[in-house]
Amino acid sequence: MRYGNRKKILVTGGAGFLGSHLCERLLEQGNEVLCVDNFFTGTRRNVAHLLDHQDFELLRHDVTFPLYVEIDEIYNLACPASPVHYQFDPVQTTKTSVLGAINMLGLAKRTKSRILQASTSEVYGDPEIHPQPENYWGRVNPIGYRSCYDEGKRCAETLFFDYFRQHKLPIKVVRIFNTYGPKMHPNDGRVVSNLIMQALRGADITLYGDGLQTRSFCYVDDLVDAIIRMMNAPETVVGPINIGNPEEFTIRQLAEAVIKITNSKSKVVFKPLPPDDPRQRKPDISNAVHLLDWKPSTSLADGLKKTVEYFSAL
Ligand code: NAD
Ligand code: UDP
Ligand code: UDP
Repeated sequence: MRYGNRKKILVTGGAGFLGSHLCERLLEQGNEVLCVDNFFTGTRRNVAHLLDHQDFELLRHDVTFPLYVEIDEIYNLACPASPVHYQFDPVQTTKTSVLGAINMLGLAKRTKSRILQASTSEVYGDPEIHPQPENYWGRVNPIGYRSCYDEGKRCAETLFFDYFRQHKLPIKVVRIFNTYGPKMHPNDGRVVSNLIMQALRGADITLYGDGLQTRSFCYVDDLVDAIIRMMNAPETVVGPINIGNPEEFTIRQLAEAVIKITNSKSKVVFKPLPPDDPRQRKPDISNAVHLLDWKPSTSLADGLKKTVEYFSAL
């Protein structure tokens, strides 16, 4: 039952890093939230503060299995995002993206819900066009260690656009670039959490390869703002739309920033570069700027400060 503008919203992967921030924001806006997660990389701790909220419900469920619930809107975020975790059980990673997309699209079709897919900059692979616009088809290795994630997400995008064309489903696809912030798992394995945890513990700071590869880091609050704007944009705005912070840094620069903020005595050590690690990555966000009237507002220094505060308190 729907009252006024209040919606019943399903967030898959809602106990993860991005999902838990999204659940919180959707509740603040007065919606009912059904958070579905199998707790592979997410934790109950991330949503513990929401459990007593009368409009919040937490369900342990794996999206590779069908789900019959009554909802108005779906944010499909379920999928491990850190290379360490998505490569741990690569077959399950592909199943989560592909079977998860099929089940959530089937659910959206039956309930006539809007559905948003959290896609990724990884669909561009190791890009030879820089920065990456949405009409770039990418350069992805189909048989490498990252393929379970990259190709799974690419296939999920295919399914979204086929349900859009074949079943006239109201879809939304966002391609998220590296996002960081509080509630990342301390052992998540991604670069921002790794470097901050190492700096705080006085352990060696691990740079893979020469550390001159680049990434563009978006603070979580900016990201959540963008995906909610995308969901609420007119039905003709389906995407895919890049969401990220176009400020580009080498991983060495990131390490320097972390060391400065934490006042750490840690020293930097170099480790082998993982296979197929993209050399550069930076979003072209002109579409987000024009269609969503959105651009990120948190600088890397400010975002890192808040993230360091979170990890220091753990
Ligand atoms: P995360 O690992 O913290 O969250 C993913 C959540 O999905 C976890 O809570 C996990 O337990 C859950 N999950 C995994 N498999 C599932 C399954 N089969 N059924 C139900 N739940 C399942 O990662 P995140 O950074 O919060 O990423 C959320 C989404 O955003 C992912 O789809 C990811 O691909 C996408 N994304 C994130 C980034 C980023 O930089 N954070 C970048 C690009 C895309
Ligand atoms: N599905 C689901 N919840 C629903 C409706 C469908 O999980 O409320 C799943 C169902 O398992 C199905 C998939 O979504 O396999 C795709 O549904 P769709 O209706 O598109 O295809 P079909 O049922 O014809 O295979
Ligand atoms: N990286 C690093 N040290 C670490 C973890 C990651 O130098 O401890 C590098 C990694 O090789 C990649 C970049 O940082 O070039 C971003 O890695 P992450 O796993 O965060 O995400 P990706 O963008 O590669 O999916």
